This record gives sequence, C-alpha cells and structure tokens, in this order.
Amino acid sequence: MKVIKIGGGCLKGVKNIELILDLVEGQGGGHVYVVSALHGVTDMLVQGLSLALDDESRISPLMGRLKNKHMLVARKLISKPEDLRRLSRDLSMALSNLERFYYGLSFTREITPRTRDMIASFGERLCVTLLVSILRGRGLRAASRWPEEIGLITDGRYGDATANLRRTAPNLQKALRPMLEQRMYLFIPGFYGVSDAGEITTFGRGGTDYSAAVVAVAIEADHLEIWKDVDGFMSADPKFVGDARLIPVLSYEEAAELAYFGAKILHPRTMEPARRRGMEIVIKNTLDPEAPGSTIKARGRRTAGAVKSVSHDTDVGLIKIHGSGVGARPGILAEITGRLSGNAINIKSVVTSQTCITLLLARDDVEAGLRLLKSLTPKPFRRLEQVENVALVCIVGEGLYQHKGIAARCFTAVADSSVNVEMISFGPSEVALYFLVRRQDLDKALKAIHGSFFNSKASD
Ligand code: ASP
Ligand code: MG
Repeated sequence: MKVIKIGGGCLKGVKNIELILDLVEGQGGGHVYVVSALHGVTDMLVQGLSLALDDESRISPLMGRLKNKHMLVARKLISKPEDLRRLSRDLSMALSNLERFYYGLSFTREITPRTRDMIASFGERLCVTLLVSILRGRGLRAASRWPEEIGLITDGRYGDATANLRRTAPNLQKALRPMLEQRMYLFIPGFYGVSDAGEITTFGRGGTDYSAAVVAVAIEADHLEIWKDVDGFMSADPKFVGDARLIPVLSYEEAAELAYFGAKILHPRTMEPARRRGMEIVIKNTLDPEAPGSTIKARGRRTAGAVKSVSHDTDVGLIKIHGSGVGARPGILAEITGRLSGNAINIKSVVTSQTCITLLLARDDVEAGLRLLKSLTPKPFRRLEQVENVALVCIVGEGLYQHKGIAARCFTAVADSSVNVEMISFGPSEVALYFLVRRQDLDKALKAIHGSFFNSKASD
C-alpha cells in the first residue's frame, strides 16, 4: 500500500488534472492520496484575508472565483449532470462555511492565527471534494476523510504545527485500514491537522509533503511517493546551471538541507517522520511518470566527490550584531533570537564570532528584525548593521566533512571566477557548507562550483 502526495503544482489546468487522475486510476484501489489545494488556491485564500479586512464587499466575489475555479475543471471532467449538481452543492456548502470565517474577521477587524489557519486550510478540502467526485464519475470507489475526522493530531501550534505521531498512528490505522482493505481510492486533504481542542492547525506553506509523510508513517505504508511536476532533486537549479543533473539517491540529511535552502522541492520537515521509521521517500514527475525520480533514504549514495548539489537562496538578508564578546555570551543570543521568534520572525541561520552575531533572515523580515532589536533595553550590543544584496550558496553532500579538500576546491572555483566570498559557515550541519556572495555574483559562483565538482574527471 502506498501513500501518494499530489502537489498543487501539478494540479494546474484541466489537462494536467485529468492526467493525474489517469495515473491514480492506473495505481488501482487500496492506496491513500494526500492532496494539496489546486494551484494558486491557497494564495487566493491568504490574500482574501486582507481583502476581507479591507472591504467586506470583496468577500462574495472571492467565493465566486473559488467556486468557478473548481467547477471549470468539473464541467470538463464530469459528464453526468446529476454528479455535477451534487458537486456544485457540496462546494457551495464548504464555501458558505468559509465565507462565514471571512465575515467574522471583517466584523472583528482582526486576523487571528486561528482564523488564518482555518481559512488557509480550505483549499485542500475543496480540491479533495473535486477529485473524489471526478473519480466517482469514472465509476471508481473513491472516498475522502478529513484530518479532523480521523484524528490527525498536532501540537496545536498555528501556522507551523507538528504532528503528534504517537497519538495519530492508532487513530489513522483504525479509520483508514478497513477502507484500504476494501481497496477504496482514499483521499485526505494535506496541509493541516487538529489540536487536542479540535482546532485546525496548518503545517506551514507547502505542508502537504509533511502531511503525506505523517500519514505514511502512521499507517505503516510500504511506500511514500511525492508526485510533483519536476523530476526530483537536481545537482543545481537548471535555471542557473544548464547541465544540472538529477540526483537519483539522497540521504534524509541531504534532502533536509536542500529543502531548507534553495531547492524548494519538499517541505523541509517531510524528512522528520520518514527518518524515524526509515521510510523511503520517492519523488515522481507526473509529466514523466516512467522516469526514476529521486529517492530519499537513510544512506545516500556517496560519490567520490562528496558533493551532491549546489543550491542557493536569494531570499536572504543579514543583520550583524556587533559588540565585544557578543558571540561568547549565550544569554545575548537567547535574548536576540527570543525577541525575533516571539514576533514570528524566522531566523534561517545564525553565525557567531567573538565580536559579531550574524543573523540570516528572509529579506522581508530584515526591517522588522532591526526594529525589534533596536527596542531591546538595555542594549546588549554596540551596533547593528544591515547587509542586503547577498545570496546564500550551499553545497550539500554526505561525507563533505570527512572528505579532504572539498572546501578548498569550492572556494578555489569561486575565486577563479573572481567572485568574493562574504561569509562562510561550515558547522551546523554535517552535510552542508554555506557561504554568501553578492547577489550579482550568484550566477557566476554557481556555474563555477558546479563545473568544478561535476564536470571534471576528479568528481567521480
Ligand atoms: N496548499 C498549501 C500551500 O500552497 C500546502 C501545500 O501545497 O503543500 O502552501
Ligand atoms: Mg503547494
């Protein structure tokens, strides 16, 4: 039995959706599908929050657009008028529920984390309703189960929840096994679970990958597949490096590093539950289903050159916190990181020296981060500095540390292309080496490193 995640990226347009459902039908019954929202729907829902806050009259047209988006697909892929009518009714019911939440926030003039999560989670349910109805129209025994019904329990943290596997596993086994034994096509909306108190809590944007891993581990599936519209993890972003190649096998650590920075192939936390049970994750391209894709497992395949991928992240900005001894006084670090994370600012990475703490933030968070740090009293630092216009480069590979000369080779390649390295971090992860370059140098740096590790004889 498989758990298969269907990503929003491949649920785009009638043709693709039809193709995916052909693939689903081809698998036969008895598998679980964990599904994202249709492409673009979660964005519409999230943007709807501020529309509703702004002007109540925007709510109803938004409901209309959401309904249309789903019915447009349905009208092409469902032939029986009574099936279409039933679906239309089901969607309207869900949307009138959703509408109430929007009016609620417009009335209270406040977007709480709770309403935000509740509203954002609707896309997955609408999508499951649509897909199940199309499959039933094809005469297949398809059914849906909501996380709140089957007891996919989380720690209750809005926007960034973690599943409680110990409690979720027996719930899901009990709810899903009988249906799987009857070889049903079983659909579950991804992206969220429920707290003890029954509140909807999402796993963060892109969280359906994580949902799928949780479900797969909970019901002890034989396989976990992630269906996407790309081949898998690549040795570099093909937009930058023309001869980037597919990485056939990666370790959990390598995949996690690549997911955090740069290659946004998987939600970074997908590997957590999978690693606990040693469950392999296979990434499959729905546009090329025969291709092998990437497999993630406990032991990656070591290459002699050790480096698997050169990835990057341009959504970074730095705050440098200067002061004597700052890096050596742990209380300061806690105070600083606490102040930021307490205000929902995510710190991507921290690099410290004796006299400077450098925080890596998303670009949009830098301004707010500076403001928050300036308001600390007494001021635990001498001076704050903001650095923009940088990009993070990350080389990833098991054995990077044990392998002599990797760093030297990487930085030689960068220097030979006359790019200056701004800051290096070779510590937090066993499988990754990070550094910063000026944003305008990124392209050159990536090509130089990729060329050095992948195109010369010495690389394998
Ligand atoms: N629909 C959600 C999002 O767009 C979750 C997901 O697609 O994984 O972030
Ligand atoms: Mg998505």
